[in-house]
Amino acid sequence: MHTPTTEPRPSIYYDYRVHEPWLPSAHPPQQRSKVLIVGAGPAGMVTALELARHGVPSVVASAELQVSQGSRAIVFTRRSMEILQQLGVAARMTENGLPWRFGNSYYRGQRVFRMEAPHDPDDRFLPMLNLQQQYLEEYLLEACAANPLIEVRWGNKVTRVDQMEGCARVGIDTPAEPYTLDADWVVAADGGRSGIRTALGLQMEGASYEGLFVIADIRIDLPLPTERLAFFDPEWNPGNTILMHREPHGIWRVDYQLPPGETPEEALRPESLKARIDAQLAMIGHPGAEWELDWSSVYSARALTLPDYVHGNVIFTGDAAHLLPIFGVRGANTAFQDAQSLGWQLAFVIRGLAGTKLLANYSAERVGAAREIIDEAGKSTRFMTPPSRGFRLLRDAVLSLSLSEAFVRPLYHWRTSRPHEYTRSMLNSAGDDNALFTAGPAHGAPPQNIRLATDDFLLDHLGGGFDLLYFTAAEAIPAPLQEVVAATRARGVPLKVIAVGAPAPVAGADLTLADTDGHFRRRYGIRAGGGAYLLRPDQHVCARWLTLDATRLHAALATALPQ
Ligand SMILES: Cc1cc2nc3c(=O)[nH]c(=O)nc-3n(C[C@H](O)[C@H](O)[C@H](O)COP(=O)(O)OP(=O)(O)OC[C@H]3O[C@@H](n4cnc5c(N)ncnc54)[C@H](O)[C@@H]3O)c2cc1C
Repeated sequence: MHTPTTEPRPSIYYDYRVHEPWLPSAHPPQQRSKVLIVGAGPAGMVTALELARHGVPSVVASAELQVSQGSRAIVFTRRSMEILQQLGVAARMTENGLPWRFGNSYYRGQRVFRMEAPHDPDDRFLPMLNLQQQYLEEYLLEACAANPLIEVRWGNKVTRVDQMEGCARVGIDTPAEPYTLDADWVVAADGGRSGIRTALGLQMEGASYEGLFVIADIRIDLPLPTERLAFFDPEWNPGNTILMHREPHGIWRVDYQLPPGETPEEALRPESLKARIDAQLAMIGHPGAEWELDWSSVYSARALTLPDYVHGNVIFTGDAAHLLPIFGVRGANTAFQDAQSLGWQLAFVIRGLAGTKLLANYSAERVGAAREIIDEAGKSTRFMTPPSRGFRLLRDAVLSLSLSEAFVRPLYHWRTSRPHEYTRSMLNSAGDDNALFTAGPAHGAPPQNIRLATDDFLLDHLGGGFDLLYFTAAEAIPAPLQEVVAATRARGVPLKVIAVGAPAPVAGADLTLADTDGHFRRRYGIRAGGGAYLLRPDQHVCARWLTLDATRLHAALATALPQ
């Protein structure tokens, strides 16, 4: 029998709520489920919310009775916030989170680089927001609970998955009795140790790095702004790297690398933690400051992905699909992008609006994203924890040169998580004008947000289906285009038409956005009326035209919805 813990998890800043387990005996006999999502972490819940946005119900099975424990994700990127905005939880995040955009790198007591993440007046969200993962999960859960298409089953541990003809048969254990559920599709969002991945005998590809890091969340009152702090080769931890981040509720995260050969057990001894955290506080000018430990753990960097995320009727997403180094804040931020992508593509297949090729596309696009991240993460991981004498020599040369030479200082800045651009996606239109544009988001890129008024942005108006941005000053969308739009909608495909640039509402458009100073047009590289962008339901660009006509729109929609 499955016995998840019923004691609220310990935390000095977060009050855990213990949910009632879902027991099969208390419910009518099981129907077959369309989608069973295994795991109520960020990937599982975002997938459920995305599916629901497209009208598809799901059951979410969570082995536990409460949200996640201890130090996990704290830094969420702008793109993550844009995805969360679509799901209705961004406001909850910004209410409680700490936004930031500066990072400081120190070497030998001197600040050698100040990173300034770009922030455009057209962006609603700052580049980064710090908030503990428990809160994120709580807000996602609230959104799931409010959605009649989502059923969360607490204390339901998936113990086996058998691939059947046209479905998967899933064994689930509960605190009372086990049961079996057939699901047309199983989404494996069961995290880094995915039991489903192991049960299907799937191997990940990539690298694991040797350097070990301690991660400790402490409560302390430090009069410092919300900016990332990185210390290279500090006196108390020679040759190694330390990171510090401010979190909400008076918590700071301290991340420090261990000398080679030290075991996790030694590193996590209270005396060892105390000596090192005290040394770090002394180094930043707060010797003897009082602090209290919330959580500590040891981790090493792994950069691994499954080579394919779709196996029969089982689809992988989030940490179950890939394991990414946390420098560069990639795990949860990537999980949101996976889940957003999976949500609409699986929903469109289930609703018969496209063929299963769309799922092959999900896998190709997201495996491509994971591989790109793994490539970039390798560089930052090698800088943080040089794996060989050669890498260390090079890193040390950069460090010492940076004291006097400005040109090497940007090398301190490793790439943080950013949305992958589906440049070579099979959903991109081959016959459009992508190559002729000199500005604006290109094939596969997420859209550039545009500030329309003080508290009104383009992205506030997108989503839920395909969006056609049509630039025109005319009174109506041309009739042949309206005919394609009507025929597409008649097939059940959600398609919104947004006219940009007219002073009054444009006939045939669902929404008209004025562009009196031409700012929107310029940012999107539009030279004349009749230019257009087609955005997929995850908002990424799949076609853009300097002049759009009905044939080209029809062709682009057919490419984006392979049968
Ligand atoms: C120390 C640390 C710091 C991090 N910092 C960041 C950061 O700043 N930014 C960032 O983006 N990421 C960060 N991450 C990574 C981030 O926490 C993960 O990438 C993210 O939680 C992945 O989400 P997920 O939903 O895929 O998996 P998980 O969050 O692991 O969720 C998996 C869920 O599946 C459930 N489950 C497992 N097995 C079963 C089963 N058999 N049946 C039913 N349910 C099951 C689990 O209980 C859990 O609820 C950090 C991670 C760590 C450890």
